[in-house]
Amino acid sequence: MKKVCQNCGSKIETSLKVPGLEGVFVCLECEGWMASSSLSLAELSNQVYDETYFNGKEYINYQASDAVQRLNFRRKISLLDQYNFFSKDARILEIGSATGLFLDELKKKDKSIQTMGIEISQYARQIAEKKGHRVLTPESSELFEEIRKFNPTFICAWDVWEHLDSSVDTVTQYLNSSPECQAVALTTVDVSAVIPKRKKKKWRQFHPPSHLNYPSRRSFVLFFKKYDYEVIFQKAYGMYRPLSEYLFALCPILRSWLCRFKILYKIPIYMNLYDIQMVIAEKKNDHQ
Ligand SMILES: [Zn+2]
Repeated sequence: MKKVCQNCGSKIETSLKVPGLEGVFVCLECEGWMASSSLSLAELSNQVYDETYFNGKEYINYQASDAVQRLNFRRKISLLDQYNFFSKDARILEIGSATGLFLDELKKKDKSIQTMGIEISQYARQIAEKKGHRVLTPESSELFEEIRKFNPTFICAWDVWEHLDSSVDTVTQYLNSSPECQAVALTTVDVSAVIPKRKKKKWRQFHPPSHLNYPSRRSFVLFFKKYDYEVIFQKAYGMYRPLSEYLFALCPILRSWLCRFKILYKIPIYMNLYDIQMVIAEKKNDHQ
């Protein structure tokens, strides 16, 4: 039986599994990994991406570490600025906009930039909406119609690809609804890095059902080529995390005691383990 690789879009045999990883398929074209989830969007929204996801599970305290997250988003904006994606008439669609921190930073840079977010977590969406951002739920029956009306010129998805159940199908639908989109930028895991090859199941990024698709670098070269986009930037991408996250990982037993020191959430520590990639793809010009 064949199915579409949700990392590169190629057709793959479902019999090829990653040794040692139960229920995970590997694509021979891109070497990406694919796990599957039986949860619906509504179940993911209520059971996985609820308030505890941002306060205790994936993040210790997302809002307390606000300043550190903003630092990461400002770095992304300054990289993307080099390509002039944020011109006066830019319309930016962020897939997985969480509490709207990236959208906040874009508005700070230039109020005239039009933005729209898509976010599965009702908890995060409400925080973003309170700040005045327009954020849609992927469960909406009018989602694609709304994207078409907004007509984005640029789409980004920060640390989202790995979370989507059908990443290729989902991003393809967004691209098909965005005829004037000129570029796509994303950060996600990189299964072709050294760490996942060595650690497999123990790789820190391997945790279904919140992470389901694990692309390689080649995944995006193949995926974007199918849609007439060209990868113009692809590199390992480090990020800042609050000191609290390192301390909690090193001494989990002291966690409840360390939680009291709010300053720990505000001190940024940079780390690059070369297992996260930043990809920027630009639509090929008709004249090329
Ligand atoms: Zn593939």
